[in-house]
Amino acid sequence: MKSKIILTALIAGSFFMANAQEKAKPEDTEVWDPIPKVVVPGKTFADAPSDAIVLFDGKNLDEWVQADDQSPAKWDVAHNILTVNKQYGNIETKHKFTNYQLHLEWREPVDIAGTGQARGNSGVFLASLGKGDAGYELQVLDPYNNKTYVNGMAGSIYKQAIPLANPGRKPGEWQTYDIVWTAPVFNEDGSLKSPARVTVFFNGVLVENNFTLLGPTLYIGKPEYKAHGPSSIKLQAHGDKSIPISYRNIWVREL
Ligand code: MG
Repeated sequence: MKSKIILTALIAGSFFMANAQEKAKPEDTEVWDPIPKVVVPGKTFADAPSDAIVLFDGKNLDEWVQADDQSPAKWDVAHNILTVNKQYGNIETKHKFTNYQLHLEWREPVDIAGTGQARGNSGVFLASLGKGDAGYELQVLDPYNNKTYVNGMAGSIYKQAIPLANPGRKPGEWQTYDIVWTAPVFNEDGSLKSPARVTVFFNGVLVENNFTLLGPTLYIGKPEYKAHGPSSIKLQAHGDKSIPISYRNIWVREL
């Protein structure tokens, strides 16, 4: 008796489903609103699109400050290129960001010396968390025949994510990073609601695919999240003795 009722219900159910399917129209699954805004792309993939905030266009460091004391950024600008000045330390953006798309280009000196982590080390802190190297670092390092721990090579999220490939070019050649950063979200009590995620294209090749960070990147120890709000993007003046590296064409789109 019971099974007959179930069978009847099943037949009736599938009849109504079939009926609903018949009445469905293509328009039912079309989404027309909101319309994505029109953005004029750059002439090449690397050119800033119309809605980007240009952080460095070769002229000056107006968008940057020294990370430790917020004084005007003192790295060297010449021939449309920004070069790390190790004597002054890290620089960071005046503007604070949450989620964004970031483009930047970097170059190891053609006569770079040193080995491993001491060969052209710099870094992009995707969110600065204050002085020194506090934050979430996408490593910048000579990627060409330069052996080091793979979770610290160029394209790595320092000591957390090994890049999926090494598309690095030789010293003296410009390299590109195109980054999608999703900031961590915190609850009112400071606990973690959702972790940070990052996607990175290195010279156009996907090297980090929506990677979920364990917390800020650390030189020593295990990462742990601590609540924070919108943050600067920070560039690293690493303490190694090799010749300073350079940057150019830095722009960001807030998401
Ligand atoms: Mg570094």
